[in-house]
Amino acid sequence: MTNRIAYQMAEELRKASKVALFSHVSPDGDCIGSMLGLGLALEALGKEVYMYNSDPIPRNLSFLPGVEKIQTELPAPFPEILLFVDCTDLQRVKLENEVFPADSLILNLDHHISNQNFGHINWIDSQASATGEIVYALIRLLDVNLTQDIATNLYTAILTDTGSFKYSNTTSKTHQIAGELMDSGINFADIHHHVFDRTPQAKLELLRRGLNQLQILAQGQFAMMTLHKFDFEEIGAEESLGEGLIDHARTLEGVEVAALMKEVNSSVIRVSLRSNRWFDVNKIASHFGGGGHKRAAGCTLDMPLEEAQKLLVQKVEEELALGRSC
Ligand code: 5GP
Ligand code: MN
Repeated sequence: MTNRIAYQMAEELRKASKVALFSHVSPDGDCIGSMLGLGLALEALGKEVYMYNSDPIPRNLSFLPGVEKIQTELPAPFPEILLFVDCTDLQRVKLENEVFPADSLILNLDHHISNQNFGHINWIDSQASATGEIVYALIRLLDVNLTQDIATNLYTAILTDTGSFKYSNTTSKTHQIAGELMDSGINFADIHHHVFDRTPQAKLELLRRGLNQLQILAQGQFAMMTLHKFDFEEIGAEESLGEGLIDHARTLEGVEVAALMKEVNSSVIRVSLRSNRWFDVNKIASHFGGGGHKRAAGCTLDMPLEEAQKLLVQKVEEELALGRSC
């Protein structure tokens, strides 16, 4: 999608001398790869770039070129342009109560259907498999040379949000872009290895516990996995190692909806939701104040684990009973 908004965003970036990039909490391959890919491209244009993420970078993304540039402190002062990648709303960056300088220009670059259009310029393409696809288009508009470092980041962004090009968000355009990125000389086999094939033992231990606590509900259509705070503590696993475990619930034969309930503390539960073929998990996540996509979404429930489980099961069963939603 190269439209008026895209040109407008490129034009503002061309004019700017300093840009801050922001990506969401509980970072994933798309938000980090997109931020780094764009950050390196803007640096190549001679901009001063600040890249922010409040959380630790997951271990399997620590190989990404430029990752050491990501800051956990907010820029002070805020530069003229604040650009948010892969963020549905300011809550996803924990900046909903931040007062930005009156002259800041907020740019919003995202592919979530639930995006809140919180920017002055909002480039939202829910047809894009990953924000990385939109960043690719922006970099092309900015006429920046696609270096291996930039391409490695964008390839990782797309690779992770499409589940290795297998989710239904993958299009022929996704493959075309991946092809262009490969043509820049990236070592894609090495990227796959770094991202997927170095499972830390702690993650396997988490999976073991998650499988022990797996519940199959709604006549086999709903699989809910739970991980307690003590599971993470006893194993010595960081929170991000829970990423991806939900697929062991989602891929069970007969399952349409999967959930991973992660107890952050006694009154905060992080919920990941996935569906396979027709169930709209964004509808469920949005109902509880979160968001995402039809096939992958999330939310946070501020209540004890058992209460959260009960509430979620009730809502999912209710929606399943209504039948096909998308
Ligand atoms: P995950 O389950 O991997 O954390 O997230 C799945 C998808 O839903 C991602 O695209 C993510 O950005 C989105 N998502 C997860 N949690 C939230 C949330 O609390 N709020 C919103 N708006 N989106 C979320
Ligand atoms: Mn994404």
